Amino acid sequence: MTAWIRADCPTCGPVETPVAQVRLRLTMTDTASRTAVDFSCPACGTPVTKVLGARATRLLLNAGVAIVGSPSESTQPSGIRRIRRH
Ligand SMILES: [Zn+2]
Repeated sequence: MTAWIRADCPTCGPVETPVAQVRLRLTMTDTASRTAVDFSCPACGTPVTKVLGARATRLLLNAGVAIVGSPSESTQPSGIRRIRRH
């Protein structure tokens, strides 16, 4: 079964993308973590990046979207376990 997410392309408007084409990107600072989603529009191919809130992030995680770390942490694939680091 393939899950699809709905997102907005700046050119096409609302589009649906299979979760296999979507990546979550975690960016962490000392005070906060931020999650963005990266995908290419299935209609026009435009790369799209959206910053997500906590609820949208959970929805995508539940749908099985893959996570990549921020560039500085790309050598540590277990980034999701490091959300709590205090
Ligand atoms: Zn588009």
